[in-house]
Amino acid sequence: MKAEIVAVGTELLLGQIVNSNAQYLSQELASLGIDVYFQTVVGDNTSRLKQAIQLAAGRADVLIFTGGLGPTQDDLTKDVVAEVLDRSLHIDRMAMDNIERFFKDRNVPMTENNRRQALSIDGATPLANETGLAVGNAIAEGGKSYILLPGPPNEMKPMFKQQVKPWIMQHVLTNESPIYSRMLKFAGIGESALETKLLDLIESQTDPTIAPYAKESEVTIRISTKANSQSAASSKLDVMEEQIASRLSEHFYANEDVPIEKTIVDMMTEQGLTVSCAESCTGGMLMQTITTIPGSATVFLGGIVCYSNAMKEKLLNVPHDLLEGENAPGAVSAETAKVLAEQVRMIVDTDFGLAVTGVAGPAYSERKPVGLVYIAISRRDGDTEVHELHLKGNRNTIRLRSTKTVLYHLWK
Ligand code: ATP
Ligand code: MG
Repeated sequence: MKAEIVAVGTELLLGQIVNSNAQYLSQELASLGIDVYFQTVVGDNTSRLKQAIQLAAGRADVLIFTGGLGPTQDDLTKDVVAEVLDRSLHIDRMAMDNIERFFKDRNVPMTENNRRQALSIDGATPLANETGLAVGNAIAEGGKSYILLPGPPNEMKPMFKQQVKPWIMQHVLTNESPIYSRMLKFAGIGESALETKLLDLIESQTDPTIAPYAKESEVTIRISTKANSQSAASSKLDVMEEQIASRLSEHFYANEDVPIEKTIVDMMTEQGLTVSCAESCTGGMLMQTITTIPGSATVFLGGIVCYSNAMKEKLLNVPHDLLEGENAPGAVSAETAKVLAEQVRMIVDTDFGLAVTGVAGPAYSERKPVGLVYIAISRRDGDTEVHELHLKGNRNTIRLRSTKTVLYHLWK
């Protein structure tokens, strides 16, 4: 089953708005097991829209349009699709009632062009607009489906979720079992290293399918299967999850789409553990990341951003000799990271103290290369572990990766 998304609107071509509808629809269609082969953007122009429809109809089974259902002269989508399908338009009574009620409730006169928003293509299933006025349309003809949705995302999304999905199930995916997916989350490993460990599984995959992707320093694998019931799908997904987890047990932290900080906060809450942070190059990003998670208040007690050497000395008792001097290790060193983690843990009085110090770039610091980062984890009853990282990327990527790497080692 192949789909094409046709976003209509000159403002998209001018770069005034981003085609976020295509992103949303692509994700939704993928979750239904429908492959999107093309995304087209076309302006509000009759002949070019017509060309786009004919092209899409020649290469896709499902055509999804967004935009151009409004009241104005440049809203052409329904007129042009009707013309290509050689059908007429009529006023949909329910949609018209909805529009009339809208103006009556607000006590403003309705202009004549608003009637256009109630137009429906003959033979189409009208899709009620819960958050706006323009009625959507779904049409099955000659083995192809044409689905017309409004442009504003707050109208398009609920229409898709509540009406288009069931319509697709009924008219397009009639003989196919629904797809069930599960997200497996990994930390402390890159996408390519992870893929290498699973190469034979990925290459021989048929059912369930395995799709890895990386985002914000975490790797996700989506495993999907077609099945007739949730329980049948679950047992197939369990087997695959088990197989993948056994190869990557050092890195596999959740079988749902959650960031590692969520797993950590939940784990620490359960065990009644607490944490504090001392941050140099991440400037608070680590604390910000932890405190994004609801419920972190009982786990995260506090921390210190010690950006300058003076603050490292004054607030966290890092010896001056460690930071400055001819042969001093410097702020970016394993020694400093260790003191920072131990001191913040003692000062805040927590079970764990985390520290990050490094060179986020773009310039060198202490004649050390960009991407050199030391992280440390101090434990109330145990040794302090220190890791030297050599990270790639721009300033923000290095900061983000440092943050996620500390969290990964804390989880481990
Ligand atoms: P309206 O009734 O508002 O005129 P419409 O269905 O005619 O709706 P358009 O006129 O094409 O849709 O677009 C209206 C607004 O919807 C745009 O100004 C933009 O904010 C948003 N929009 C349209 N297309 C997209 C898209 N592909 N991605 C994200 N937003 C979009
Ligand atoms: Mg419009």
